[in-house]
Amino acid sequence: MFRSQYQIATVWGIPIKVHISWLIILLMIPGTLLFRVLIALGLFMSVALHELGHSFVAIRKGCRVREITLMFMGGAAQMESMPRRPLDETLMALAGPAVSVLLGAAGYFGGHFLMRMGLSYPGMIIYILGWINWALAGFNLLPSFPMDGGRVFRALLTPKVGRLRATFIAARLGKIMAVLFGLYGFLNEPRSWVLVAIAFFIYSAAGREYRVVQMEEAARRGEGAGPFWNPFRSPPEPPPRFDGGDDYVVISPPPYAKSRRAEHAEVDVEQ
Ligand SMILES: [Zn+2]
Repeated sequence: MFRSQYQIATVWGIPIKVHISWLIILLMIPGTLLFRVLIALGLFMSVALHELGHSFVAIRKGCRVREITLMFMGGAAQMESMPRRPLDETLMALAGPAVSVLLGAAGYFGGHFLMRMGLSYPGMIIYILGWINWALAGFNLLPSFPMDGGRVFRALLTPKVGRLRATFIAARLGKIMAVLFGLYGFLNEPRSWVLVAIAFFIYSAAGREYRVVQMEEAARRGEGAGPFWNPFRSPPEPPPRFDGGDDYVVISPPPYAKSRRAEHAEVDVEQ
């Protein structure tokens, strides 16, 4: 039977699955087949470790991580719940980029070391993966909810305006930034359909998570317990029913726009 995703490992009881779309990455990386395979595998490990960084903190804060999926859109950690305290959410959001920053340093210095030892090809691969990890950290820290930076932004707003309104503002900013990513990808030369696709992904994920929080807050207040804040309607609607079936998804798209640098680096080494 054809399946769209395959479980490849289990870490801390979390199944790690790879979605078939991950193979698209092989086509997107420029260069020789060996180079593509090595970079794709390195990116795979990098995104998995980034998601495990988020998961580690989430588990420590009492949340259950259902699974980690690696797709061409990036890594996604599906969680049954999410840390509610702003400090806990900030720690969880920053843990992924923190892992990526450390991996970036290991790749940068490790790659340099190998190249100085005369191992120029493996050194170059490790060095490029170092930069990819730094780019992964940087891209995910943009305040574009529900990416990591957007989660930190929401956590900063929550004590001032409450969780629901903070999520609304963060999701709105996330959508605006997604539109800008999409326009940038579309107008860029060469046109980056991948960035356009990631923009759609972020845009819809922002709206989806806002609806989850909206239902969750309605359930916390008790159905029919009075009007709850809804930015769209006046007078407020009765709260929707909370079915509890929706997971939170921590997404971490990879920085595809940086792949051109890898192409130039490989050309430099081969010359
Ligand atoms: Zn992340």
